[in-house]
Amino acid sequence: MTTAILSALAEEQQGLLELLQHAQRVRRAGREFWLGELHGTPVVLALSRIGKVAAATTATTLIEAFGAQRLVFTGVAGGIGADVQVGDVVVATEFVQHDMDASPLFPRYQIPLYDRERFACDAALAQALLGATRAGLGQLELPATVHHGLIASGDRFVSAAEEARALHAALSDAGHAPLAVEMEGAAVAQVCHDYGVPFAAMRTISDRADDTAHVDFPKFVTEVASRYALAIVDEFVRELNKSRA
Ligand code: SAH
Repeated sequence: MTTAILSALAEEQQGLLELLQHAQRVRRAGREFWLGELHGTPVVLALSRIGKVAAATTATTLIEAFGAQRLVFTGVAGGIGADVQVGDVVVATEFVQHDMDASPLFPRYQIPLYDRERFACDAALAQALLGATRAGLGQLELPATVHHGLIASGDRFVSAAEEARALHAALSDAGHAPLAVEMEGAAVAQVCHDYGVPFAAMRTISDRADDTAHVDFPKFVTEVASRYALAIVDEFVRELNKSRA
């Protein structure tokens, strides 16, 4: 069974590439994919690229061209839940698209023709990722708070406190109060729903989606988020291996 590991940023993928055994690089859809094994588990590594459409193409290619039978995503996000702080980690239960609005034809946030606003992660895979997140952060001896809940995605880097507040309020009013905001997860969740492929995702909180989001971001990615992602994926793959044995 091939597990796809999608990283949002090159810095997050770098450590995984160094661990990849029997590495083979394949180009497809204008992207680079890395086939190989992590601790004996067959994997395909890819960068999601940024935004919903780009991430959907990457996810589709992973499933159609590389036969990925489950997808795991690591990345960073803006914390918009009240108690979600920089350095925390959110493991997703579900995703909503905060920029989907086909009203009045369909209710706000509903994905037309799917009759739903949210796409859920696979419960078992999300639990496994949650366990790996706690174990991975434990290895790093970091006291990061781990949240488990809804993440909102949209084609917008949210970098103003007022915008973050309005976005959170509008989603909450519709019954979709999110913990974090990012730009890809809901698209990958929708593709995985279409194909019936289990999906799970974790995001390290890099900023509070406020007026300093762009300042916090680059430094945080290299210094913190890439270390988190590597430790968590490493744990996750080791656990997969144990459950196979
Ligand atoms: N500097 C990066 C661009 C990052 S875009 C580069 O040059 O490649 C932001 C990425 O981080 C997206 O993948 C998005 O999913 C996530 N993200 C982090 N904070 C976010 C925020 N406040 N709003 C939206 N997306 C955010």
